[in-house]
Amino acid sequence: MNHYTKLYIDGYEEVVHCHNKELGFCAWIAIHNTNRGPALGGCRIWSYPTSKEALADALRLSKAMTYKNALARLPLGGGKTVVNTQLEKADRERLFLEIGNFVETLDGRYIIAEDVNSTVEDMTVVMRRTEHVATVGASGNPSPSTAYGVYCAMKASALHKFGSSNLSGRKVAIQGLGQTGGRLAQLLFQDSCQITGCDINPENIRTLQEKTTLQPVSPEEIYAIPCDIFAPCALGGVINSDTIPLLQCQIIAGSANNQLSREEDGSLLQQASILYAPDFVCNSGGVINISCEIDQKYNSKKAKQRINTIYDTLLEIYALSESQGKPTNLVANELAENLFASPQPVLS
Ligand code: NAD
Repeated sequence: MNHYTKLYIDGYEEVVHCHNKELGFCAWIAIHNTNRGPALGGCRIWSYPTSKEALADALRLSKAMTYKNALARLPLGGGKTVVNTQLEKADRERLFLEIGNFVETLDGRYIIAEDVNSTVEDMTVVMRRTEHVATVGASGNPSPSTAYGVYCAMKASALHKFGSSNLSGRKVAIQGLGQTGGRLAQLLFQDSCQITGCDINPENIRTLQEKTTLQPVSPEEIYAIPCDIFAPCALGGVINSDTIPLLQCQIIAGSANNQLSREEDGSLLQQASILYAPDFVCNSGGVINISCEIDQKYNSKKAKQRINTIYDTLLEIYALSESQGKPTNLVANELAENLFASPQPVLS
């Protein structure tokens, strides 16, 4: 049985803690902001060393979703579920049924979706307890849409940096060749790019070598590869004061969340004349795709058209960054804050 406790945290609309002694998990749903509409955000399952760290992740990730959804001009706010448990020991079906009960207590103010360690299949279990679930319908796995969004971001960045959005012949270095990085590599291969990539999983490299002309390098080498575009598609915090001096790229555009270890790293990139495509704009293709099945019949053509808007959003950010002399990450934050500041949803 779930036990719920409401937490009061400055800057957040609603944060609820859930404890289930029998199943041995603690979970948090953090709703950061719903000015634009119900909070949408995935369900992350992880074994955190402490509850404090799990809560901090829920707060950080839900806030990031508000920014991402606002800048994608979606009629959605930002939220997140974080579950602290050892998934390999858990009764998966019972766990996700209880997560469904938890989501249901929020009465539609929060919509759950898949995320790290939760799948579309898990969401179908959640749906037995609540209707406030995305990614179980026709939109499916968001990764192909995320990869396509990054591809759009690369084209916009190339236009701004090189004067042409044509990526043919461009050198791209991809860190992480999983669900998003692998698909991105295939899109770039179709566009005749020269692709270098790394992954800690050799199987992912082998698979891509069968499909593309990928040149593999070690994870340690990837930062210093001379290239036009560096695409972080694995981990957060990879752009930092240690890695920035190594970079030999002109543009950074990738799918990973929280690429900059600190906001100040955006200034370091600007000083190094590296164009940074803010991560939460670049990787919003997945959530844009998901949004197309909330309260409407999913249409893949319409979803793709909406993902294409990442291109224009980035050009807007780059123009403002130049005219204001500000790093692109700060411009993106300010644009997003303006879009979710008022409680009037802007329907696209
Ligand atoms: P994934 O797990 O499928 O792929 C990540 C890949 O990175 C894996 O193949 C892994 O082996 C590799 N990797 C891990 N550490 C590495 C390292 N040090 N060096 C090189 N490779 C390493 O995950 P994904 O779904 O592709 O997501 C990648 C990133 O994009 C994550 O930060 C995720 O939060 C973010 N993101 C994903 C989506 C989506 O739709 N999947 C949406 C938005 C953001």
